[in-house]
Formats: sequence, structure tokens, C-alpha cells
Amino acid sequence: MSDPISRLPLVGSVYQKRLKRLGIRTIEDILLHLPHRYEDYRHEKSVSYLKEGESITVRGKVETFRNQYTKSNKKIQLLVVKNKKSRFKIVWFNQPFLSRTFKKGEEFYFSGKTGWFGREIVLMSPDYEKIEKGKSPIHTLRLVPIYPETRGISSKWLRRRIFDLYLNEIEFTDYLDKDDLSRMKLITRESAFKKIHYPKDFDDVYEGRRRLAFDEILTLVFENRQREGEWIRKKPNFSLNIKDDEMKKFFDSIPFKLTASQIRSINEILKDMRSELPMNRLLQGDVGSGKTIVAAASCFASFSCGYQSVVMAPTLALAQQHYETLGNLFKPFGAKVSIFTSFSGKKKDIDADIIVGTHALLYKSISQLKVALVVIDEQHRFGVKQRAEISEITKQEDCVPHVLTMTATPIPRSIALTFYGDLDVSFMKDIPMGRKKIKTWIVPEEKRAAAYEWISNEIKRNKVQVFVICPLIEESKITSMSEVKSAKKEYEKIIKIFPDLRIGLLHGRLKSGEREGVIDKLRKGEIDILVSTPVVEVGIDIPNATIIVIETADRFGLAQLHQLRGRVGRSTKQSYCLLFSESKGEKARKRLEILRENHSGFELSEMDLRMRGPGEIFGIRQHGIPELKIASWSDIDIIKQAKKFVQEIYSNKNKYKRVFEYFDSKKIAFN
Ligand code: ADP
Ligand code: MG
Repeated sequence: MSDPISRLPLVGSVYQKRLKRLGIRTIEDILLHLPHRYEDYRHEKSVSYLKEGESITVRGKVETFRNQYTKSNKKIQLLVVKNKKSRFKIVWFNQPFLSRTFKKGEEFYFSGKTGWFGREIVLMSPDYEKIEKGKSPIHTLRLVPIYPETRGISSKWLRRRIFDLYLNEIEFTDYLDKDDLSRMKLITRESAFKKIHYPKDFDDVYEGRRRLAFDEILTLVFENRQREGEWIRKKPNFSLNIKDDEMKKFFDSIPFKLTASQIRSINEILKDMRSELPMNRLLQGDVGSGKTIVAAASCFASFSCGYQSVVMAPTLALAQQHYETLGNLFKPFGAKVSIFTSFSGKKKDIDADIIVGTHALLYKSISQLKVALVVIDEQHRFGVKQRAEISEITKQEDCVPHVLTMTATPIPRSIALTFYGDLDVSFMKDIPMGRKKIKTWIVPEEKRAAAYEWISNEIKRNKVQVFVICPLIEESKITSMSEVKSAKKEYEKIIKIFPDLRIGLLHGRLKSGEREGVIDKLRKGEIDILVSTPVVEVGIDIPNATIIVIETADRFGLAQLHQLRGRVGRSTKQSYCLLFSESKGEKARKRLEILRENHSGFELSEMDLRMRGPGEIFGIRQHGIPELKIASWSDIDIIKQAKKFVQEIYSNKNKYKRVFEYFDSKKIAFN
């Protein structure tokens, strides 16, 4: 299976290059190059006349073949074939070389579509295949696989090569034995490949795909588990002795009543931090569900045991916000909170009890700390890779800190399950009391002026603040120049529309310092309308902001829109989200309507996953979640099955030696 593709007959350097374009280098690669659809040519035409627009297979002997010119001087090929029932005409366009193929008296299968040609119905440019005794057809008279192609590599060519593979004997190793297969209702790898490339019906295709999807998911889960093992082996010396009465002092100091979800999550975290193994917990809570206080309680637990904590935020503004929030919360306890910024320079206070900073900065700066807890806020990267990086940056050789990852982007269950254990995910379902649903309006262009007038009145009458999110420009870069340009343009526009209001501008290319200045003004109520690029201000908490305007809403994923919408609705006041869209398309409108009706980030991200794939949920940021080739992230059953199987093989390593050997032989790089 791992032999180079050049082992196949007729695959020389030219074809190797072409195949490389399809990502095919080995025998296994070509087998894993799965059809994206099938032509149903199973049924041989048995009646004597043709109907228009059918996909059929007919058999016939060559009577006459000729090249002919049309009036527009194009070359066409006319073939007349005859069988027991009747005579058919077949037409090709611009394939004069066919004259060499069709010799009088030879018998062929023809599979293709029928259509009008002049005044008769003929078979149009069908696939054809000479009938030879003892050989069953490959390109006709069956469910014919159609593969992703590239220039110089046709489906027909691929079909032939894959067929040859079966004639040559290849050795299929299967890491699952009979028992495993029957228990999990899976077929062997060998028969999966056969059924996918040579199905007799669509059930075959389904069964084959299911097995290969299982392999794909299992590889991910297994890899993850392998790395997890390495992580756990570096045991921490941070099995913390957290005292309940210390924690109570902290809880008593919180200015509000914790929600049930917050209490439950905190308890789950404390349990982890007290245990022998390093915590690796994902805290999921919709925007505004109050994750910060949960993080604060965790930091306090670490502090109460004499250790440091690190809090990483994706943006400087958010780091600043956490720095202030945590500073206020911890002041009564004499815990020192410091912030790492690009201009705090050498004065970085690494002796503080809680160190807040952006991901990038902290990655560079931390060393020689006694960090028992790392909190990662709004970081949309998953898997153990990240944990490996953390143990790297904290430079604590034989021990790893507890890690709490917080996200408002709800990770669909299938993905969470792949990358975290069932018991390592905390959900925050309820939202602090007294919050109202954000009214979401899809505003047609002709009502734009009226909407602006309404906004102006709201600001003047109720002293609320407004976010305007600029058009989404470039998907790939976080702070591209074009994005900045668009932000400036939007800013100029808003200034003209609201000449008597105070307008602010925020984008990724503002110098740090400038940015914090803007946020600070916003917080103090000195800015009425903040024009901002989409990506900058995740997590920012301005309770007085009650209106958000989102331009080019159709370009965002649902989960992203939900995130943006969550910038408002953070107090007991009624909040509003106004969506402008460029696309008049039905589909775009439907998606925005879903957002209007649905206020659960969790459901929205499941829908995104179904409609647009994982890349969309996590939007512009690097998310580390692979796009699957065969399986799909909505295959929750297969994911559960793979997960269960991995647990099984780890609890019975001897019995499942062959599985470990198999993955070893595939040399998965655990980096
Ligand atoms: P997010 O989960 O989006 O990070 P935050 O932690 O920023 O949410 O909290 C949003 C707002 O809700 C903050 O102003 C916070 O002080 C407030 N808050 C958090 N928990 C509660 C609660 N239990 N009761 C009332 N307000 C709360
Ligand atoms: Mg937050």
C-alpha cells in the first residue's frame, strides 16, 4: 500500500507529476482517491427505440464509422451499430482518432446519454468499451465511478489503473480483526475499497465509505490520544490543595450572584486542579454567559495555593479588559495582577500572581515561572498541539500546568468529542438573569437611511452606544491593508451621516496604545459610535452598547455573526442587531433569517457545520481543526464509535498490539 505509484504499469514520470497534483503519491493514495459521484450505467437497454435524455448502456456491433464535417466546419464522428433488436446511431464531436478504435464487426458496450441529433435521437459521446470474452466491463454496464480529475488524468484513466491494482495482488493489512468488525458493524478495508470503486449498488458505496470514514476519524482520535498520553506522562507537581474556606472568601466578594452554570463549571475546574493529572478543560459558554468570573475563580484557586496563573487573550484590548477586571476582583486579597504588553518592555513583572497578556507576547516572554494554571480565552485552536506549546513556553521541565480553554464559539459536539474527553468539557447553558433577547433585524438597503435616523435618536434619547462592523474584506488575513482601508472608508461615511455624534475607529493596524485609548474612551462613554473591523474585538464587554450594525452580513458564518451580535445585550436593556447584506440571493437571506430566529450559539454553529464546514465556524482565525476527506464532522455516530474503540485499545494494549503497530507503521508525526 505504501509503495510509490510508479510501481503501477504505465505510470511514468509524466503521470507521476500529474497524479501529484491530485495528491496521489502511493498506491494507498490512489485507492483513497474516492469517486465524487457515480454514473448509473447498470441497465442494458433492452427495447428497440431510444428515448431522449436517458442514461443507458447498449451493446452493439460496429457497422459503419465515418468522420463528417458540419456546416460550421466542425468534425463530427458518426458510428452506426447494430444488435439483435435494432440499429443505433452514435455521435461524437471532434474525436477523429476514433476511426482507429471502431473496426467493423467488433462488439462494444456504449454507456451515455441520449439526445436529439438533427431529427433523430442518438447516443451522444458515450463511454465505450470493447467486449472481450471472460472480462467484465469497467467503464460501462455498471455503477461507473467518476473521480476528481486534473488535466491529463481522466476518470477513465483512473478507473483503469485502479482496476489493474486489483488484478495485481496487493496486500491489504487490516488493523481490525473479525471480532472488531462484526462488533462495530464494519467491513474490511479491502472490501471497503472494492465496494467504493466497484459497487454493485449504492449500499456498497455507503458501507465502503463508512469503513473508510471510521479509519479517518480513528486516526485523528488516536493521534490525539497518543499526544494526550505524552502530556499526562509529564505529571505536574500541581495537584493543588485548594481550601474551600479560601474559595468562599472569593465567592463572597463577587458583586453578583453566580449562575448555576458558573457554579457547576467552577466546581468541575477545582476538581481537576486538585487531581493528580493536569487539567485540560474546555469551557464553552455563549457570549455574555460570564466566563471571565469562572477564569478568575480558577486563578484565585491557584493563587490561594501560592502559584502563579497566566491568562492569555487574543487581542491587546481584551487583555487590557481582563487586566482591569481581574485587578479589581483580586485587590481585596492582595494578589498582584500584571499585564504583558508590547511596550511594557523590560519592566515585565514576572513576579505577579496573575499575568495577563496576548497569546503572541506571552509565547515569547514566559520563562522561569511557577505557573500552575494557564487560561486561554477566546482561542479557537484545539487539540493537544496547543498543550504541547504551553508546556514548551512555561519551560517547566517535568510538569505541565493545568489548562483551561474558554470559547464562545460553540464547538459542535462531534469536534469537542474528538479533541477532548467527554468529562473535560464544561458547558455554560444559562445566561445571567434579566438579559433580554437581542432583537435582530435584516435591513433592506432602501431602509438604510431610516435605520440611521433611528440609531441617532436612540443614542440621543437613551445615551446608548453603537458598534458598526465594517464590511468583511479578506478572509485569509487578520489585519490586511484592504481591511484597514475599508474600515477608514466606513468611518468617513459614518462621520458624514452622524455629524453631531462622537465617532471612534478601531482596526488591527492601530498602534497599541491607540487601540487601548479607543477602547478606554468607549468604556467611559466618550464615543457614541465605534466603527470596527470584524475580527479585532472578540470578548469586549461594554454593557452600555445596545446596538450593533453589521455590514455585508452575508459574508460571515452564522456562528461568527452570533459572536458579533454578542457584543451587545450585555445588560438588562433591550439590544438590537441590524444586518445589512449585499447578496439578494435566497440562500443568503435564509441564513440571516436563521440568525434572526435563533439565539443559541450552539445550534447556530451546528447549522454552520452542516451548511459550510468547520472552516466557517471558526472564521478567519486559524482553528487547527482539519477538514475531513471522507468522514464528515456531522458523523457523530462514527466519531463516538472511534472514540470508544480508542478507549478500548488503550485499556487493553496487549490484545490490541496490532492496532498500535499499524499506527506506528504509518509513522504519524506526533508534533
Ligand atoms: P463572556 O462569557 O462573553 O466572556 P463576560 O465574562 O465578559 O462574558 O461577562 C459578561 C458580563 O456579565 C460582564 O459584565 C460580567 O460582569 C457580567 N456577569 C457575569 N456573570 C454574571 C452573573 N452571574 N450575574 C450578573 N452579571 C454577570
Ligand atoms: Mg469573554
